[in-house]
Amino acid sequence: MKALVYHGKRDLRYEDFPDPRMGPGDVRLQVKSSGLCHTDFNEYLNGPLYVASTPHPRTGRSVPIVLGHEFSGEVIEIGPEVAGLRVGDRVAVNAVDCCRKCEFCRRGLFIQCRSAATIGFARDGGYADYAVVPADCCHILRPNVSFRAAALVEPLSVALHSVRKAKVEAGSRAAVVGGGTIGLCTLQALRACGVLDVYVIEKSPAKQRFAEELGASRFIHTEQSDPRQVILDLTGEMGVDFAFECVGSGSALETALSVTRPGGTICLSGVVPHAIQFDWNNVLSKEKTITTTIAYSDEFPIVIAMLNDGRLKAEGLITRTLPLREARGTLERFEELGSANIKMLIEMTS
Ligand SMILES: [Zn+2]
Ligand SMILES: [Zn+2]
Repeated sequence: MKALVYHGKRDLRYEDFPDPRMGPGDVRLQVKSSGLCHTDFNEYLNGPLYVASTPHPRTGRSVPIVLGHEFSGEVIEIGPEVAGLRVGDRVAVNAVDCCRKCEFCRRGLFIQCRSAATIGFARDGGYADYAVVPADCCHILRPNVSFRAAALVEPLSVALHSVRKAKVEAGSRAAVVGGGTIGLCTLQALRACGVLDVYVIEKSPAKQRFAEELGASRFIHTEQSDPRQVILDLTGEMGVDFAFECVGSGSALETALSVTRPGGTICLSGVVPHAIQFDWNNVLSKEKTITTTIAYSDEFPIVIAMLNDGRLKAEGLITRTLPLREARGTLERFEELGSANIKMLIEMTS
């Protein structure tokens, strides 16, 4: 099969790759749509970070590895121990393949599984014609959810998980720092949870249209105005109840802290690749709460249901569609293309 394979830092290859072998609890998918993600670009530029560089204890896989952790497909083969899935089922893939046996898994803390193997990092992923994944990671799509939309179930699940972890309340006000894929997914999750106003803080004016179409009460362009002052004006000098950091930088965290009211909650969703400093006194003396999220737990079926009935939207986030053979060049130029794009999607033609 053809695949986009990660061989190491700045070494991505579009090449023939052996068809992955099936385990008894696995299914083989014909991949349909696969989202390009900043995390993959980060692997390309600075990795291996999440990609296994030594054999993973459970999957035995390491570089070279097929990237791709946001994807959908059709089931074309099922392992002998698989129950609940049939050939022909349309599915979205939860990328966290956990053991389901360790103490963390037993408590439902799947992300913290002692031997978690993320698909696309420690198992071959969705930048390929075919993918073999555990049946337990597959979630059947509802009728109104297309394969294209299903490739966004993963980032939407990250967003919904962050909103649930922050214990967001209906009627509250929130700010989202960062108007990229995760920021715009978080905006939608907040709207779906009954938040009264959501303010999106972003440096690229090209993101304004997307934020407004998806329900932002106000788009705050950081190069034209001071987000803290704008939000104080909008909230009667109080600040928002919840702020979501969806960039992954120290300055975005400072912005999130500065716009959150005393007693409010800041949720960190952006991955920061290095240690950062921030004003701890702003957290402590104002009794603010900080929560974090790295992935998701049981959000996949919820997101699929909310896409099905229209409470969440995926199509509006897809700004570029490309065939697999162009994925390498597109991923290598991810940052440059990023200011004008939200989600770039590989659509398999086979
Ligand atoms: Zn991703
Ligand atoms: Zn486990």
